[in-house]
Amino acid sequence: MIVDLEKKWVIHAKCAGVDPELFFTDHSANVVYRNSPTRKVASEWEKAKIFCADCPVRRQCARDGLGEMEGVWGGMDPAQRLVLRRTHSEKVRRLTGSLKKEYAKLAYDLRLRHLAYHDVARIIGIGLSTAQYLCTTVGLSCPRTTLARPRTTSGSR
Ligand code: SF4
Repeated sequence: MIVDLEKKWVIHAKCAGVDPELFFTDHSANVVYRNSPTRKVASEWEKAKIFCADCPVRRQCARDGLGEMEGVWGGMDPAQRLVLRRTHSEKVRRLTGSLKKEYAKLAYDLRLRHLAYHDVARIIGIGLSTAQYLCTTVGLSCPRTTLARPRTTSGSR
């Protein structure tokens, strides 16, 4: 499975009922893009990562949260996810055969749900250009309607 769009694993999450503040630090996305999290932010991320370490669905959370810009998902902070997302994008671009078709079909199906490329990329955990590439590969052509950007699902676990 590339991603679980319904996040069925969430019922087993260790953080169910835990204050989301543990995982989301104000302005964390901005901090990442400056490449210099403050000591306070870094310390808060560390606390969340320690909490996630023995979560039974950490792998699924890390996979499905790879494209999220803020907060700690699956024991990874935004900076760690950014690095992994780039690697994931490169791997996806090099794919061939049935797995490539699987990714392309997922991207295409998400576009059919009227999601913008930005959101397709976030959901799959890849870069924007890779999401666009997927939609134009393996013979699939994406709908050309004007797509409204839906409300973000960031933070929902
Ligand atoms: S790994 Fe994900 S689901 Fe598990 S505690 Fe951490 S944030 Fe919650």
